[in-house]
Amino acid sequence: MIPNTGSYRLANVRLHASLSPGLGAGFDRDGFALADITVTEGKIAAISAHRRAATPLDAVDLGGRIVLPCFVDCHTHIDKGHIWPRKPNPDGTFMGALNAAGADRAARWSAEDVARRMDFSLRCAYAHGTRALRTHLDSVAPQEEISWPVFEAMREAWRGRIELQGACLLGIEGVRDRKWFDRLAKRVAAAKGVLGVVTYMVPDLEELLDHVFAQAIKHGLDLDFHADETDDIAAISLKKIAEAALWNGFEGKILVGHCCSLARQPDLDVLDTLDKVAKAGLAVVSLPMCNLYLQDRRADQTTPRWRGVTLLHEMKARGIPVAVASDNTRDPFYAYGDLDMLEVYRMATRILHLDHPVSDWPQAVTATPAKVMRLDRFGTLASGGDADFILFKGRSWTELLSRPESDRIVVRAGRAIERQLPDYAELDELMVE
Ligand SMILES: [Zn+2]
Repeated sequence: MIPNTGSYRLANVRLHASLSPGLGAGFDRDGFALADITVTEGKIAAISAHRRAATPLDAVDLGGRIVLPCFVDCHTHIDKGHIWPRKPNPDGTFMGALNAAGADRAARWSAEDVARRMDFSLRCAYAHGTRALRTHLDSVAPQEEISWPVFEAMREAWRGRIELQGACLLGIEGVRDRKWFDRLAKRVAAAKGVLGVVTYMVPDLEELLDHVFAQAIKHGLDLDFHADETDDIAAISLKKIAEAALWNGFEGKILVGHCCSLARQPDLDVLDTLDKVAKAGLAVVSLPMCNLYLQDRRADQTTPRWRGVTLLHEMKARGIPVAVASDNTRDPFYAYGDLDMLEVYRMATRILHLDHPVSDWPQAVTATPAKVMRLDRFGTLASGGDADFILFKGRSWTELLSRPESDRIVVRAGRAIERQLPDYAELDELMVE
C-alpha cells in the first residue's frame, strides 16, 4: 500500500485540522479534510487539498482513510513495565502498587532486568506508532546508579526510531537528604534528563519544592511531577507546584501528571488552582487508564463511583497545555497496557469525553506533548516535516475509535515499518518468582 521507494504521492487521505496547520478549508464535521501527501526521500514535500481531477495516475488512492502524525507519549514507566507476572498488585490499590513495585525493585532490578524490559516496551511503542516517549526512572538509592546508565544506552540504541527522554522519580521526602538529592540532580543533568519528584502533602512541602526548583535552575533542567494521585481533597500539591514556579521565577518547562484530587475539590478552590497553574505556565498530563484502574478502588469489592481523571476540559479552556499518556504497563500500578497511544486516546475519549466536538483534542497525544518535550516538528504533519505518520482503516472518528486498528500502517521516514510486537514469552525467564 505504501510504496517502498521513499518517494511517492498518497492521494485522498483524511488529515485533521488540529494536526495539519495550513491545510486551509473544506473540513468535515469531524474536523478532517481530504488531502494529498507528496513524500520525497523520507520527508513530506507537500500537502495539498485533494482534487480528484488533479490526482496524478501514479498516486496511491487511499479512499479517505485517516492519517495521523506518529504519537508522542510523555508519561510512562518503562523501567517498571511487564513485572506483573512475578509481582502482581495484591488488591488493586495505590498502596498495594507502591509496596509491590518497591519490593520488586529492591529484589530484582539489575541492569540486565531493567534493560530487557525497557527494550521490550520500546518495541511495543514503536510498533504501535509512537515516535517519542518520556519515561520516569525510579531513582531511590541505589537504583539510580543502575537505571540511569541503562537508560542512556537505551536512548542511544533507539535513536532515530524513538526519541527517548528520562525523568528521575522519587517521593519528595527524599529531597530532605540534600547532599544525596543534589548529587542525583547532577547525575540527571549529566544524562540530559528531566528532574522529577512525587509530591505529597508533607509539612515541609513548600521548602522541599523550593529546593527542587533551585536544583532545576542551577542545572538548567525541566521539571516533571507526579501530583495528587488520590481522591483526598486535602491533596493540593498541584497548587503548591504552581506557586513555587511563580515565586522562584522558573523559566523551564514543567509537566504535572495525575492531579486526580482536583476533580473532587470545591469549585472555588479549583478556580484558584487553575488560575495559578495557567499563570505559572504548567502543562498537565492525565493518565486515564491508570487513574480508572487505581482510583476509587474499594476494599470491600463495591463498585467504583468516579473516573479518577483530572479536569482536562477546564484546563484546556484556560489555555493550559493538556496531554494524555500511557503511564504504567503490566505492573502493579496497572495490570494492562501495551504503550499503544491509539488505545490511550480511544480510552481517553470515553473516560474524559474528548468528543462532540472532538475539537483539537488529538493534539493531546501528538503536538502538545511534543511541545512539552521540546521536540520541534513532532506531532504535526506539514510540508518540510518528516514523513512519520500512521495510516488507519478508519475514515471518521467513530470508525477509528471503534476498532483496535491492529492492522494500521506505521510509516517512518517515508517507509512502512515492520510492525512486529514482541512475544510475551521473551520475558518468561525474568518472571520466575
Ligand atoms: Zn506515572
